[in-house]
Amino acid sequence: MIPVRCFSCGKVIASSWDEYKRRTKDGEDPAQVMDDLGITRYCCRRILLSHVELVDTLAPYQ
Ligand SMILES: [Zn+2]
Repeated sequence: MIPVRCFSCGKVIASSWDEYKRRTKDGEDPAQVMDDLGITRYCCRRILLSHVELVDTLAPYQ
């Protein structure tokens, strides 16, 4: 479950998660997608990036 807000700065990131997930799955560059979504701070980007890795790791077992 993606955190609703960034732990560090409080920016709402959950609303961007679905689009981020869909576009990266389609092969887009995660950094470019985050730029488009307005997630520019490193603290917020780190949450999305680490969350994707977790989902990828767990996917075969779901
Ligand atoms: Zn942040």
